[in-house]
Amino acid sequence: MARAPFEIAGIEVQPGTRQTIEVQVAKLYTHTPLHIPVEIVHGRRDGPVLMVCGAIHGDEINGVEIVRRVLINTALRNLRGTLVAVPIVNIFGFVQRTRYLPDRRDLNRCFPGSESGSLGGRIAYLLRTQIMEHVTHIIDLHTGAIHRFNLPQIRAELKSPETARMAEAFAAPIIINAGLREGSLRAYADSQNIPVITYEGGEALRFDEVVIASGVKGVMRVMRELKMTPAKKSVKPPRKRSEVAASSQWVRADIDGIMRPVAKLGQKIRKGQKLAMVADPFGASETAIISPCSGIVICVNNLPLVNEGEAIYHIARFDELGEAEKAMDYFRDSMESEVSEAVLPVHPWDELQKQ
Ligand SMILES: [Zn+2]
Repeated sequence: MARAPFEIAGIEVQPGTRQTIEVQVAKLYTHTPLHIPVEIVHGRRDGPVLMVCGAIHGDEINGVEIVRRVLINTALRNLRGTLVAVPIVNIFGFVQRTRYLPDRRDLNRCFPGSESGSLGGRIAYLLRTQIMEHVTHIIDLHTGAIHRFNLPQIRAELKSPETARMAEAFAAPIIINAGLREGSLRAYADSQNIPVITYEGGEALRFDEVVIASGVKGVMRVMRELKMTPAKKSVKPPRKRSEVAASSQWVRADIDGIMRPVAKLGQKIRKGQKLAMVADPFGASETAIISPCSGIVICVNNLPLVNEGEAIYHIARFDELGEAEKAMDYFRDSMESEVSEAVLPVHPWDELQKQ
């Protein structure tokens, strides 16, 4: 029996075809309708319906590029099931290059939303009734906030076996067993028993090739794990891919000043190790920021101007730090051959740093 068409926003997408659909979510006060563009790749054969979405925080743009590269992947030709690709969820924020909506609300705190609520509430409501209601699995793509660079990592509630399976298949070096934040897309999906993982990598308003390439690989790996695309014949010996963090901790600046980072993203840190130096502009006083725990650096602040109390480094703790280090080594090795040669270094000294 032929597979039924996929219906969304009153449009039917036939099996074996793909289509870009504009889902109307709101009206601007110019009276112009506002749409979220969605691409549906509807396979000929039955299977999971996977939503991959980016830029629910409008300035987190790595995910937009990840979705684009997934959509041009040739493995989609033989898709089993359906891919629902939503590169830009927060259209307002994306246009304005900001995390938030015009009323300064965070769309990722507006779920489940309501038909007659604030703009964020209405977008959340339409997103879940028009799109999320049709899907069986979700990958939500994020980056660090502005000036904060996240190590590629998966955040997921691992108590659901299907979510844990997706998290593991994605194979980011670090998995954080992260609680659900009220109002987030992830919390809503989880409440509806839709397995959902969040990929975090890079920083807002910047592209990072390693983060993007590893995100694309991760999404394709999840699709293979869910049998949406054919399995890869691999003869490579299994190596340590991901390590689940036991917990994580933000390290804050204990004085105001100008910061020089010492510790790098992905680096193994021992308790008591120096993470950064903070000095006043005259050089009269200088204080080290010391790590309160051992772990792996999973986020760094790239802005050297810090106020007392500001979060500077995010450290993930592990029961077996050595295993986490192995996962980081594997990640570095595997990404070396993945990063496209066509990507030219922005700065002439990028090449220098590699040596
Ligand atoms: Zn985000």
